[in-house]
Amino acid sequence: MLDTSERKDFINDEKIWKQLNGAVNPDAVEIREILKKSEKKIRLEPEETAKLLQVEDKELLEEMFKLARKIKEDVYGKRIVFFAPLYIGNKCQNNCLYCGFRRENKSIVRKTLSDDELREEVKIMEKAGHKRAILVYGEHSDYDADFMAETIKTVYDTKIDNGEIRRVNINAAPLDVEGYKKLCEVGIGTFQIFQETYHHETYSKLHPKGDRKSDYKWRLYGLDRAIEAGIDDVGIGALFGLYDWKFEVMGLLYHTIHLEETFGGVGPHTISFPRIEAAIDTPFTQNPKYKVSDKDFKKLVAVIRLSVPYTGMILTAREKPEVREEVLPIGISQVDAGSRIGVGGYKEFEKGYLPEKEQFQLGDMRSLDETIRDICKAGCIPSFCTAGYRSARTGKKFMGLAKPGLVHNYCMPNAILTFKEYLLDYASEETRTVGEKSIEKHLKGLSLEKQKIVREKLKLIEEGKRDIYV
Ligand code: SAM
Ligand code: SF4
Repeated sequence: MLDTSERKDFINDEKIWKQLNGAVNPDAVEIREILKKSEKKIRLEPEETAKLLQVEDKELLEEMFKLARKIKEDVYGKRIVFFAPLYIGNKCQNNCLYCGFRRENKSIVRKTLSDDELREEVKIMEKAGHKRAILVYGEHSDYDADFMAETIKTVYDTKIDNGEIRRVNINAAPLDVEGYKKLCEVGIGTFQIFQETYHHETYSKLHPKGDRKSDYKWRLYGLDRAIEAGIDDVGIGALFGLYDWKFEVMGLLYHTIHLEETFGGVGPHTISFPRIEAAIDTPFTQNPKYKVSDKDFKKLVAVIRLSVPYTGMILTAREKPEVREEVLPIGISQVDAGSRIGVGGYKEFEKGYLPEKEQFQLGDMRSLDETIRDICKAGCIPSFCTAGYRSARTGKKFMGLAKPGLVHNYCMPNAILTFKEYLLDYASEETRTVGEKSIEKHLKGLSLEKQKIVREKLKLIEEGKRDIYV
């Protein structure tokens, strides 16, 4: 195992800028050649991505959106996986300038869920129909790997009626290998770390010296250590709005390439691209210089989809419903819904309290039920599937399936089966009506053989069986 100091920093700012500047006004013929490569689901090289990022021509952009949509459907089908964040504690020893949880912010109440409070939050999520949770922690000595492992176990253990969380993912500060091993033992899904910004100078400005988080390389290699410890699925991300968005897309691509080259062709399981949101008493978030417009946001999503055609892409409820609707079809495979991002936020919301003193503000406060209905109306099928991870279709195995575009052989049937559970157990009357029609429509898209298998399993679910998957 290498020490961080011995690891090579694979982000070269100067080189990225050279590639971006060298790609201005790209040639249409060349762009179409690059798109042919994307269509074959081959990961692009940085020089190629730089050219896509510099496309301004309307016609070419439309071609890019169209192809991004096609690739998404080829690789993932029409299914959208649903999850919800669960904030465990907001104590933090860092002072990241953009975050409401930062150490010096006196306007927020510091809180860590007790065991009972955690169980209560989980039950509320389960009663809404969630099956996947991502646990979120500040970076604090109270939240070490042992603490995280305990909270993960509690989440898996807490069940109400037919409700259970079947996959727990984590968004937390990077750990050492020993720490990750403890999480592996209790069965985590994806470990997510956002580099925030890949640009070194900006990273130093936003993460004050002396803070744990100020060590760029410790964070950059956080997911290497996770994989070395045995965690199969890792998620990368950048917080858009801290620096130039085109640079950050290049950073995400270099990170993907690094993971692929280091771990036998397996890149990140997911890529996240949150945009910065306003947070209470956090001046940096008021009109940041590099704020990304909706137009550019759509373009960056398409470019990521075209550059890494087989990687999952997460769009969060930070975005407003209109933006989610616009961007969803061009590449997204996972969304959160009915999310509450305060510590204890699910219970508080039930009591009618609309939180503002949180890490940041959410753009989409629709309930899970409402979001699901809208997703169905848009022609997609919601999925609560966690079978991939529990059938060990992760890491190398997942990529082996995802790359040739076979995921929908498993994903579509499992989306239909888990959605049926949702409709029977949790949906409102209105959503159930829309959802049943959606199931019927998507069933018809399967081969006759698959249809038969799925229809048989649907019958079992109607008879009361749960957690059935292929
Ligand atoms: N404390 C851990 C860390 O920093 O890695 C994990 C939890 S942190 C609460 C999760 C993510 O929230 C960060 O990685 C950052 O990208 C995002 N975030 C922080 N401030 C934000 C803001 N104002 N708007 C949107 N996202 C923000
Ligand atoms: Fe703490 Fe994470 Fe927020 Fe930084 S982003 S202040 S580490 S919670």
